Amino acid sequence: MSAIYLDHAATTPLDPEVRAAILPWLGELFGNPSSAHGYGRRARAAVDDARDRVAAAAGCASREVVFTSGGTEADNLALRGVLERWGAERGRHLVVSAIEHEAVLATARELAEAGRADLTVVDCDRQGRIDPAAVASAVRPDTVLVSVMLANNEVGTVQDVPAIAASVRARNPRSLVHTDAVQALGRLPLGLGTLGVDLLSLSAHKAYGPQGVGALVAGHGVFPAAQITGGGQERERRSGTENVAGVVGFGAAAELARRRQETDAAELSRLAGWLTDLLTESVPGLEATGDPAVRLPGLCSFVVRGCRSELLLAVLDELGVCASAGSACSSGAPVPSHVLAAMGFGDLAGSALRLSLGRSTTGADVQAAAERVQVAVARVRGGGGIAAPIR
Ligand code: PLP
Repeated sequence: MSAIYLDHAATTPLDPEVRAAILPWLGELFGNPSSAHGYGRRARAAVDDARDRVAAAAGCASREVVFTSGGTEADNLALRGVLERWGAERGRHLVVSAIEHEAVLATARELAEAGRADLTVVDCDRQGRIDPAAVASAVRPDTVLVSVMLANNEVGTVQDVPAIAASVRARNPRSLVHTDAVQALGRLPLGLGTLGVDLLSLSAHKAYGPQGVGALVAGHGVFPAAQITGGGQERERRSGTENVAGVVGFGAAAELARRRQETDAAELSRLAGWLTDLLTESVPGLEATGDPAVRLPGLCSFVVRGCRSELLLAVLDELGVCASAGSACSSGAPVPSHVLAAMGFGDLAGSALRLSLGRSTTGADVQAAAERVQVAVARVRGGGGIAAPIR
């Protein structure tokens, strides 16, 4: 039985074009961009070119892109760096949503526990939507930063970030706004201006680029304080010899993301809608989660009554479906979802199933995956057969 990879929200395969762009930088092109000789100058040009491509995909100026080791570091740089740079002047109050990725949520909590920030966590509704008015009412005169993600990685809900940013600014024009757009690159239109935010986090490996590289986009004049100091790379904003191969790959992936976003999004939404319909109609006790209307293209998420995530995922793995619960600790084991808990799913937070589609997913994959999920659910519930005939 051939494996069906439906975990693109965890990571995507490297696009062949991206791989081809990277390979020379793992071989004959090995210069340090800070070296003045030809090898160095060539590496510098490649990094600059990748920066232009990422900027074009993120809808910002090239000088606003700071390369990092990924989305987690970008989120850390946004929260820690803004607090350090602007806290004394504007205040130390942070506002984040309850359904942020741990890169934001755990960082905000750690800052609060260490006494370096005051923290307000804003709740969501049952669909995982954050009300802009609720965010605005959390904003205080000393709010330095508000962080609300663009698209949720577990349930796919897309927030109205422009409305959130506008409501924050109406309440306190000095508060900065950050959005974690890690899941959105190549799936949703991006842009500092169109989203109305000051800072935006990206990660290459969610968009067919390599793992271990990402970026924080920091709008003109925002400049979070560097959290990694040393040689002053990235205009003093993030030291360390650049990951040239990774950055080149990120540039190639960003270029593809920009070119293909509209067509990819349309196809991913179509296939994900189909898979969601197949499963909700044929598996009793399975409920789709997240906002049914405004969703991250390609992300299907459910709770499945009577199925613990870890068991269901193990059976699916046996049946050749690579899926996830949406959240995993570094050991890979699912942990009850803080996102579903915030959405009010109670005990069902331990029964999550996420199927995230990608560029290579076909209609045949969707059909086969739906059949295998039915078998897996029945097996976990002890029935052993197909839960209901598939149409
Ligand atoms: N933010 C979101 C929404 C994510 O989905 C992820 C990855 O799962 C991250 C941040 C972290 O990105 P990275 O894996 O590049 O550190």
